[in-house]
Amino acid sequence: MQTLLRLLSDGEFHSGEDLGALLGISRSAVWKKLQQLEVETGIEIHKVRGRGYRLAHSLSLLDRDRLREGLGGANWFVHAYDAIGSTNAEAMRLVDRGDSLPLIVLAERQTAGRGRRGRKWVSPFAENLYYSLALRIEGGMRQLEGLSLLVGLAVVKMLREMGVDNAGLKWPNDILVGNRKLAGVLLELTGDPADVCHVVIGIGINVNMRAATEVDQLWTSMMLETGHHQDRNQVAISLSQNLDVYLALHLEKGFSAFKEEWEASHLWQGKPVTLLAGVNSIDGIVLGVDPVGALRLLVADQVKTFSGGELSLRLRSVADQ
Ligand code: ATP
Repeated sequence: MQTLLRLLSDGEFHSGEDLGALLGISRSAVWKKLQQLEVETGIEIHKVRGRGYRLAHSLSLLDRDRLREGLGGANWFVHAYDAIGSTNAEAMRLVDRGDSLPLIVLAERQTAGRGRRGRKWVSPFAENLYYSLALRIEGGMRQLEGLSLLVGLAVVKMLREMGVDNAGLKWPNDILVGNRKLAGVLLELTGDPADVCHVVIGIGINVNMRAATEVDQLWTSMMLETGHHQDRNQVAISLSQNLDVYLALHLEKGFSAFKEEWEASHLWQGKPVTLLAGVNSIDGIVLGVDPVGALRLLVADQVKTFSGGELSLRLRSVADQ
């Protein structure tokens, strides 16, 4: 299946005869495989009489060798799958199995991609990056402080390097362009945070997605922002390189060293917001973050600090104030 997809991934026409010859199968077997591919992956394949088959759009497929080569310096183990429930869940499974770390899990698509609090992360085949990095954390809580925010910074850095100049952050875990969501970060822990534990850093980045009716909020992708198709392997490599640098500095200096850089990239800095915590909500003005990444809000002339995985921010329009 992968070989056939790779042959078609350039988005050019290929005759059934040529494809059959390359795969050592008949033309009708090619046709059957293509139909199967459409069902399994949801990608659109056009058939034109006299010219052959071609994909509706060219595809950037994950290339294990390129990824391994590109990550050479970082010495991370690469696990790439055609389809997986969730890259975070798979990374957690590999950690529990005792695999060597750090490792990264990537997939062409996720069948049960997740956001925070059980929400769904829409993960169509070969369009975006579904990426999880598993790390061993020794020496306690300090290494976890502000980690999810730090990861957001590394993602923004990579995006800017790759031409998405306006990418910015929304506390605590979203990467946006304007009010459109481009990427999300989901950290999951296992073990004892006070002793030795493992963290899985899940990152979903919309790379070449151009339509997604299932996403129920405003969104965008690298391709929509830059106007050109992106190489997903290069995105994964640049992301890993940035993470490697940022994580090493975080280990050495803690989140406080990144506080200013984070605030400079925070799109909602100084904005009126509502902080949602379950059924409760608090209105305030965003002042920034504290040295461990907690949100600082001005609430009725008092500075208050908030942290925890259950919190969400919403912008308040001027009319609400
Ligand atoms: P919060 O402000 O609480 O972080 P959120 O809606 O951004 O809220 P997350 O858990 O970070 O929540 O992300 C999951 C949500 O992101 C989904 O409920 C959906 O609205 C949206 N979403 C799902 N898939 C995508 C995608 N591929 N691109 C952009 N947004 C997505």
